[in-house]
Amino acid sequence: MKMADVNEEKNALLAQLSEEVVNCHSCPLSLTRNKVVFGEGNPYAPLVFVGEGPGQNEDATGRPFVGRAGALLDECMREHGITRNHVYICNVLKCRACIVENTRIRNRPPQLEELEACRDWLHRQLTIIKPLVIVCLGGPAANSLIHKDFKMLMERGKWFDSSPYCRYIAAALHPAYILRQHGEAFDKLRQSLIDDIGAARLKVIQAKREAPMELF
Ligand code: SF4
Repeated sequence: MKMADVNEEKNALLAQLSEEVVNCHSCPLSLTRNKVVFGEGNPYAPLVFVGEGPGQNEDATGRPFVGRAGALLDECMREHGITRNHVYICNVLKCRACIVENTRIRNRPPQLEELEACRDWLHRQLTIIKPLVIVCLGGPAANSLIHKDFKMLMERGKWFDSSPYCRYIAAALHPAYILRQHGEAFDKLRQSLIDDIGAARLKVIQAKREAPMELF
């Protein structure tokens, strides 16, 4: 099949999958969400970022990583000349996990049942995109896609080659976590994200050299 046909097929399959996901009611998060956040970017990208789940801004817009965390991710990608047109960005969970506390709605970590209910959507999405490299942003994404006991402190930046979805996969700190740091700690962790994105860029180059593109 020609590359143009493969691209067209990917577009069609992703659009079809997105239609299914926006109508999903497989877990209780469908009752509180405003918008499903399917994911967006370049579906032919060799590099995919996978975060944990939508926050307030993402839930309001239906787009991934659009708040302050998204701005930090964009900033760190730009250090390597990477824009959103070069990558695809999505989350493990497609709807916002939140609780009401003192009349305020705030994000909460997703529950295991919610992650399980949503797992197949991500599986199908990544199977269509077939990137060369995936970077999990944060522990929950790494637990879902690398291994369930992933420890960010010990395994951040380590490359794994056992993913069914790509040639190489690693994890970096979630930009929202970095934003919660101050002063030198913030600068250090921001630099770690820049470095991890740089390493992912080099991994894409390595993967392209190693295998013919039609394998992906
Ligand atoms: S979080 Fe996932 S499984 Fe739950 S309703 Fe949303 S799309 Fe469906």
